[in-house]
Parts: sequence; C-alpha cells; structure tokens
Amino acid sequence: MAVQERRNEDFVAGGALRRFVRVRPVLLVAGVLFAGLVQFAGLAPIPALTGFAVIALAVLVREAAMPGVDETSIYGERTMPLLADRMVDAIIAGLSDPAFALAPDSQVVAFNASAQQILPGISRGEPISFALRVPDVLEAIRAVGATRNVRRVEFFERVPTDRWWEATIAPLLLPGESPNQARNLVLLTLRDLTPLRLVEAMRSDFVANASHELRTPLASLSGFIETLQGPARNDAPARDRFLAIMKEQATRMARLIDDLLSLSRIEQKAHIHPDNAVDLGALVRQVADGLSPLAHEREVEVKIINNQPSSLRVPGDRDELIRVFENLIENALKYGAPGRRVDITLVREPSNDEAREAVVSVRDYGPGIAPEHLPRLTERFYRVDISESRAQGGTGLGLALVKHILNRHRGRLMIESTPGAGATFSVRLPLLATPALTSISD
Ligand code: ADP
Repeated sequence: MAVQERRNEDFVAGGALRRFVRVRPVLLVAGVLFAGLVQFAGLAPIPALTGFAVIALAVLVREAAMPGVDETSIYGERTMPLLADRMVDAIIAGLSDPAFALAPDSQVVAFNASAQQILPGISRGEPISFALRVPDVLEAIRAVGATRNVRRVEFFERVPTDRWWEATIAPLLLPGESPNQARNLVLLTLRDLTPLRLVEAMRSDFVANASHELRTPLASLSGFIETLQGPARNDAPARDRFLAIMKEQATRMARLIDDLLSLSRIEQKAHIHPDNAVDLGALVRQVADGLSPLAHEREVEVKIINNQPSSLRVPGDRDELIRVFENLIENALKYGAPGRRVDITLVREPSNDEAREAVVSVRDYGPGIAPEHLPRLTERFYRVDISESRAQGGTGLGLALVKHILNRHRGRLMIESTPGAGATFSVRLPLLATPALTSISD
C-alpha cells in the first residue's frame, strides 16, 4: 500500500519535472528574447516579465493538456501507456511467489512484495543484475528477451540462509490500443524449492541409514553361513555358537523391519486422531508386567506410583500406546540399569477437577544423558552411543516411533536428564472428556 502511494507521489512529481524539462528550450528562447527587448529595444522590465510569464504559462498548460504526451509510464521513461502499467502491476501483485516484470534489456519494470522481501535492493528502472547476481538467470533473461521462449533455471543461494530456487523466465506480451503500443516484457518468477529439497535429503538419509542398519547383520549372517559351509562344517561346538549369533542377527533384522513398518504405518495415519477410550493406569501396569522378565534379568526394581482417585482415561489407540510405554520402560531398563530402580508415576494436570492432561513419567537412576543429545533423541537412528544401543538390541527408531504416536494422539514427550543422576521421559496426553462435561457441551 505504502509502496503504491509513494509510487503515485513519484509519478506526480516526476510528471511535473518531465513537463518542465520538455518545455525548457521554449522558455529559454522566450527568456533570451525578452531580455534582448529590455536591453536593446527599451522595453520596460514589468511588461517584459509579464509577457514572459504569459508565454511560459501558455506553453506549460498546452504541454499538460496534450493527450498521450504526458501520459508517460510510472516506470520512468516513456515505455508504455498507463493502462498497461496498471496491468503489469496487477499481474505481478497477484502472484504469491516473488515475481518481476522486466524490459527485454533486463531493466526492472515492476515487482511484487515477495520479490522485494527476498531482494531488498531491487529498484525500478535499474538492471535486475544490480540486485540479483546469478549469471545463469541473467543469461536466461537475455535469451528470453531475444527468443521469447520460456526458460527454467535452478540455483542455490547461501546468503542469508541456504535456499534452493527455481527461476521461470517467460515472455509477457502486453497488448496496447494499437499494435505499435504492444509491449514485450519478460516475466521472472521464483519458486522456493528449499522445503522440497530438505524432504528429499531427509528421505535419502533415511534410506541410507536403514540400508546401513540392515546391511550390518546381513553381512554377519553371510559370513557365518560361509564359515559353516567351509572350515566349521564338522565342528559341532562352533556350529552351535555361530547359530546362536546368527539367530540374534536375524532377530535384529526382524526388529528393524518391524520398527520401519510401524513408523511408516503411523506416518500414513498421522492426521487421524484415535478416539477409543484407553485406561492409562491399566495399560502401564500391563506393559510393566510384560517387561518384568527383562527387569528381573537386569536386576532393576520397577515401581508404579499411581495415587489417582479415578482412572486416567485418554482417547487413543491401545496398541500404539502400549508401544510407547514399552519403548520408554524398556529403555529405562536397558540404559538406566546401573541405577537398579525405575519409577513410573501417573498424575493428572492440573491436579484439581479441571484436569486436562494425564502425565506418565518413566524415571530411571542410570547414567543419564548429556544435554547436547536431548533435542536429537527422537530423530530416526539417533543414538548417544551406537555400539551400546546395538549391544542392547536397539534399532535407534524407538523414540522416533514414540514421538510420532504421541503427535497422532495430540500428546507430547518431554525428556529431562542430569548426567550421572538418571533420566525422566514424561508423556503428556489429553484426558478424555468426562461424561458430565460431554452432556453439558451437548
Ligand atoms: P534405541 O533402539 O537405540 O534404544 P531409541 O530411539 O529408543 O533407540 O533411543 C535413542 C537413544 O536414546 C538410545 O540409543 C540411547 O542412547 C538414548 N536413551 C534412550 N533412553 C535412555 C535412557 N533412559 N537413559 C539413557 N539413554 C537413553
């Protein structure tokens, strides 16, 4: 808006100035003539000045009234009639991506707000190369100006941040009232390819990580098969040992494939919020019971602290929530084992009748996690210590799964840890509306 107003003021000021410039020779001749008459023909100064003023006024009025002569473009030089100017502005302003209208010699004719945002130095009437220094795009603009064929160029900018762009350069023909008033311009639009490129990079990283994770146990399996077919063919004790390792590797591959499939299934239904009523107290107890052999093996005591007067019911998918607490309790048993104790606490928040959230915290007293790792723990395949995770049968996908499941449940995962003093993983889930509240809202 402000830009438009400034442009109009410029137009008014610029128009008067241009009118003056055009009539300047006439005024000069008239001035010299009247000065001569005063000097050499004895004309009095007052009538001479009056005569000059009348002529000047007449010339300026005529100049202003002449159709088409003062209708110069708001873009500076007489490039096109006003109607066309407005058409260009309307077309450019209507585009959401950064867009520029350029003269065939690449001078900037118009640009929209998004264009100004990404190229603050851009200015009408100047070559676009003053603001956009991408040789391939400049070359394409010249080519389109000459050939009138559409061109596309992709480029990468490091400043102010890493961004990928696709420039589309197309001819723009503005019809005038007569054929010689038609204007050939060049339309340059920019599309931000950055989000697309980041997703592509993430996908290829993910495929590379998944293949790497699968390739390791596969290579180990092939190695043992060869050994069993060759040197260890008749060595019964070695065969038993190797078969046990092979079984472990095969289990690891199966777990990885299972986690990958679960992740992709959950991603597919990310926007569908599950709505079955799930009692968190009963579910957490069931998961803890299921993991009691592991707790026993690691010599860890698991304590559930649930002082809730009534059940904590949340809308959810039972199997997925089982997966969440299995992952968190299993991690606490695996990584926090040296602390020999895991506390699972269930509370509602706020603690009064207005409670809106259920909070389940899984706290271990193990070595904890250094602060720099905390923000990245839910990334796929991120592990603080890869060899320890592998030794524990981890896939590096557990917390990524937890995060995705909780997102689908409109829940959150919070991780707190003090190195040396253990870690707390807290799950927050919205509580199911009570029947009383439901009937009020009905
Ligand atoms: P993994 O399959 O490796 O266990 P997760 O996604 O479940 O994958 O966990 C990612 C990493 O987070 C683990 O490799 C481990 O380094 C760290 N981690 C998770 N839970 C704990 C915990 N309770 N204590 C210490 N480190 C943990």
